[in-house]
Amino acid sequence: MPHGITLIPGDGIGPEISEATVRVLEATGVQFDWDVQEAGIGAAEQYGSVLPDDVLDSIRNNKVAIKGPITTPRGGGFRSVNVALRKMLDLYACVRPAKYYPGVRTRYDNVDLVIVRENHEDLYAGVEFERGDPAIAKISEITDAADLGPIRDDAGLSLKVISEYGSERIVRFAFEYARQFGREKVTAVAKDNIMKFTDGLFFAVARRVAEEYPEIPYQEVLVDNMTMQLVQKPELYDILVLPNLYGDILSDLCAGLVGGLGIAPGANLGDELAVFEPVHGSAPKYTGMNKVNPMAMMFSGMMMLRHIGEQSAGDRLESALADVIVEGKSVTYDMKPTPDDPSAVGTSQVADAVIEKLHHMD
Ligand code: NAD
Repeated sequence: MPHGITLIPGDGIGPEISEATVRVLEATGVQFDWDVQEAGIGAAEQYGSVLPDDVLDSIRNNKVAIKGPITTPRGGGFRSVNVALRKMLDLYACVRPAKYYPGVRTRYDNVDLVIVRENHEDLYAGVEFERGDPAIAKISEITDAADLGPIRDDAGLSLKVISEYGSERIVRFAFEYARQFGREKVTAVAKDNIMKFTDGLFFAVARRVAEEYPEIPYQEVLVDNMTMQLVQKPELYDILVLPNLYGDILSDLCAGLVGGLGIAPGANLGDELAVFEPVHGSAPKYTGMNKVNPMAMMFSGMMMLRHIGEQSAGDRLESALADVIVEGKSVTYDMKPTPDDPSAVGTSQVADAVIEKLHHMD
C-alpha cells in the first residue's frame, strides 16, 4: 500500500527542492500517493486564502505532510502560514536535529544535537497590539496600578504567554523522544532570572516532568549562557528543550554549527499529525535558479520515512546523503569553500547524485 502523504511545495525555492526531494524519496523504493496542496501567496491568488481548508483537510486525512518553505511578508500583510498551520493542526513540537556529517565545512566535527522547540506559545502566540491600539493604554493602566510603571504611548506590545499545559507537553515530548531514540540527556533552556513567571514556570514544570524519567539526566541552562556554550562545546549537549522564541533562534545557531541552513531538517509534530519541513525559508532571491541546496528538505524526508515506519529506507537515504556530502563533488554552492565556486552543482543535480547512491545500495 502506498503511503498517502500531503505534499506542499511552498513558494520561492520551495517547488524546486520539493521536486528534488520527491525524486529521492521515490528512489528509496517506498511507494507514495502524493496529495499536492498549495498554500501561501499562490493559493491566495487561486483559492482566495493563503491556507485553504483543503490543505488542512488533506493533512488531517493523511496524518503526514512534507512541505517546502512559504514566504511571510515582513511588517504588514498576512500572518505566517507556517505558524497558522502549526497552530490549526496542533503541531506543538518542533524537532530540529543538528548532526555533523563528515565532509561538511564547519568548525565542529562532534555535534549531534536535537532542538525540541515549543511551537504555539511565548512571543509567537500572536497576542500583539500595534502602537496606538487602545488596548495598550488599558494594559498600561494595569501595569501602572501594579507598580510596574506605565507603557509608553509610542510603544507596540507583544505578550509572552507560557502555560503549564504547553510547557508540560513539550518537555514530556522531549523526554519521550529521548527514550524512543536512545538519547542521553535533556537540557531545558530559558531565562528565569529575568522572566520569573514565564520562563520560571517553564523550568519548574520541566523539573517536575524530569523526575518521571530518572534514567535520563536533566539540566537547566540560561539561554544567553547556552549560546556561548553551544559555540564553545556543543558536544556537551544532546536534546535541548526550549520555549518558542529561544528554540527558533537556537535552531538556526545549531544549523550553523553543522554546515548551515542548506542541510538543516525539521518536523512539526502533534499527538496525531506530522508536518516535515526544512528549517530554512523560501530564499526568494534564488527562486527558479536551480541553485539552492535540497538536502535540508531531503533530510526532512528522511525523518518522515522513519516516522511512517520506513526505518530502513530512512537509513539508506541518510547514508546516500552522507556519501554525497563526504565526496563533496555533487553539492551546491553553500557546501563549497566559497559561494562562487564554479564546481558547485544545482538543486536537481544533487538529487541525481543521491539517487545514484541509493541505486548502488540496491
Ligand atoms: P531563508 O532561510 O529563506 O534564507 C536566508 C539565506 O539562507 C538565503 O538567502 C540563502 O543564502 C540561505 N539559504 C536558505 N535556504 C538555503 C538552501 N536550501 N540552500 C542554500 N542556501 C540557503 O530566510 P529569510 O530570507 O529570512 O526568509 C525568506 C522567507 O522565508 C521569509 O518570507 C520568511 O518568512 C520565510 N520563512 C519560511 C519558513 C517556512 O516556511 N517554514 C521558515 C523560515 C522563513
